[in-house]
Amino acid sequence: MKKELIFLGPPACGKGTQTSKLAQYFNFPHVDTGSLLRAEISAQTENGKIAKSYIDKGHLVPVNLVASIIKDRLSQPDCKNGYILDGYPRSVEQADMLTKINEELDNGEKSDFRAIYFDIDTEILISRIVNRRSCPKCGEIYNLKFKPPKKDSLCDYCGTQLTQRKDDNEETAKARFDTYYSETSPLIEYYKNKNCLKTIDASGSIDEVWERLLKVVED
Ligand SMILES: [Zn+2]
Repeated sequence: MKKELIFLGPPACGKGTQTSKLAQYFNFPHVDTGSLLRAEISAQTENGKIAKSYIDKGHLVPVNLVASIIKDRLSQPDCKNGYILDGYPRSVEQADMLTKINEELDNGEKSDFRAIYFDIDTEILISRIVNRRSCPKCGEIYNLKFKPPKKDSLCDYCGTQLTQRKDDNEETAKARFDTYYSETSPLIEYYKNKNCLKTIDASGSIDEVWERLLKVVED
């Protein structure tokens, strides 16, 4: 049965790493809404041009337009057996649109839709964020606690001094979480009511989370 997977989870919960892994594992396309929108714009498609006109004016891209771009993407042949959708939906309105898109694309066939929620304590996330360092030269990401460089604050690969992103501080992180939780709690309810919410414990190592993820995706 076609697997339709979406993901909910706070910033720094490890969702990005796990969803890429999952896309490879199933050989499903990993549809990231942000990249999709940027690709439409740089390819100057009809939708891309309209989206750009809003962005240029400093407006948000209208929900209908985003939905139409996503629908086009999900109707491509490579999504036939399933897809992994990242960064969407962000609101109940978008969730309703996605439900409709799936119904139309499924065309009466049964599919397996799951919303996977990465549940993790905010304190753990904040510690991940404030300890994050990256190499300005090669882009390698480190974490002073979980993935420290071998030599004091130097990149293992190119020896460059690691840097910390300005917004990787506790205050900014907390503000991002507040936004995230107010945006996401209605979605969690929405999918719970539809009986397709799967929650996984997102604390622990990448391998531990991966095991839990496979369990809820494959059961
Ligand atoms: Zn480096």
